[in-house]
Amino acid sequence: MKATIAITKAKIKKIYKPINPHTHKGIQGHAAIIAGSYGKIGAAVLASKACIKSGCGLVTTLIPKCGYEILQSTIPEVMVVTSTDEDYISEIYFEIKPQAIGIGPGIGQEPKTQKTFYEFLKTNKTPAVIDADALNILSQNKSWFALLQANTVLTPHPKELERLIGNWNSDSEKFEKTIEFSKKHQVIIVMKGAPTYIINGEDSYQNTTGNAALATAGSGDVLTGIITSLLAQGYLPIQAAQLGVYIHGLTADIALPETGYQSFIASDIIENLGKAFL
Ligand code: AMP
Ligand code: MG
Repeated sequence: MKATIAITKAKIKKIYKPINPHTHKGIQGHAAIIAGSYGKIGAAVLASKACIKSGCGLVTTLIPKCGYEILQSTIPEVMVVTSTDEDYISEIYFEIKPQAIGIGPGIGQEPKTQKTFYEFLKTNKTPAVIDADALNILSQNKSWFALLQANTVLTPHPKELERLIGNWNSDSEKFEKTIEFSKKHQVIIVMKGAPTYIINGEDSYQNTTGNAALATAGSGDVLTGIITSLLAQGYLPIQAAQLGVYIHGLTADIALPETGYQSFIASDIIENLGKAFL
């Protein structure tokens, strides 16, 4: 295994592109978020809000019908399209052409959602982030691995990673198996944890920001929104993953003196995105 490279502030400063003063929302990137199901519309709210607050010009979110008023009233900046099913995502249809798609937070694993995700894997050509229940659906259908588009960013937490690659007896075995998966399917794997590692074939990177305050509901949904936003702005997938995990962790480092570990929630990540980018 090659030596792991630390994702330091110096490295991030080389990746980060300041906003062009002459930009407008039409060229700043249009991101799409596919998230939520009955009782988990919050995941769609968190991912969408993090996405629009990470620099892209436009966000369209696809949710099941039951989330329509919730999304529209909690994030007026985000456009909303709904699946025909009341409670679960049952098809994917956008009138727009997004530059990046983040799929998975809170979608559940209903058969109609599984089928929809299969169609997505078969047809999608847009840079994508696959997270949460979309990863769990993928893990249950290992023959679908072959459909993964090159350079897709997968963001499993430890349990999701285990479902994806099988269990491991040691840290080194976990890395070997993740590298193997990344090489075989040509995908970027964000191994979320403390710390988070990013695996891109033989290359591995270790994040240097973040703390235990991030161990809270919705934290990963926010990360999906951030990385999707960066992808839509034209960052390369590996850069979007590195900058995304760094900024996500930095929000918790910035907020910690005020919130402490106990009262930090996923919305605090979103609230501190501005300071982290600055
Ligand atoms: P999820 O489990 O999908 O909500 O994702 C949790 C997010 O919080 C990931 O980005 C993890 O890396 C991060 N996280 C969770 N626990 C810790 C911890 N103890 N220290 C640093 N980051 C953490
Ligand atoms: Mg998650």
